[in-house]
Amino acid sequence: MPQKIAVFPGSFDPITTGHVDLVERALPLFDKIIVAIGVNTQKQYLFSLEQRIQWLEDVFAHEDRIAVDYFENLTAHYCTRIGANFLLRGLRNASDFDYEKTISQLNHIVGNGIETIFLISQPAYSHISSTIVREIIKGGGDASPFIPGQVIIPAK
Ligand code: ADP
Repeated sequence: MPQKIAVFPGSFDPITTGHVDLVERALPLFDKIIVAIGVNTQKQYLFSLEQRIQWLEDVFAHEDRIAVDYFENLTAHYCTRIGANFLLRGLRNASDFDYEKTISQLNHIVGNGIETIFLISQPAYSHISSTIVREIIKGGGDASPFIPGQVIIPAK
């Protein structure tokens, strides 16, 4: 039986408690989960790649079946390169579904049969997004209810 390796791709700008809950709930399904930051050179991020990687490493340091990485270009090609056979994504609402459906169908073709496994977010996390967290931070508010304790936002 080949190992079940899942890539959880995202921007993680920054990682939220919603992301952490998803990874923890998915862990019994896979032998290994690679939380991987997809680097899009066209996109502006609030936090540097180094900072986002450091936070992911801190958050998942206690679990040796979770690894942290980053990649450029296509997610499906990254999966092929590292031998991952699954993608993990979260669904919070209908707009997540509409977007994710197309991406997963494309990845299935481009990634030669790679399957995306979706977990529906728990109600307690379905309102949390990195976008909302960034807005709170930019507005000078306290984002700590939505981010793991390891994520310390530098003061402005
Ligand atoms: P992207 O830029 O690819 O959307 P994100 O870091 O925003 O990356 O999200 C990565 C994945 O985590 C997506 O599948 C998204 O649906 C999921 N996700 C984000 N927030 C939550 C949450 N609160 N509950 C469950 N899944 C979530």
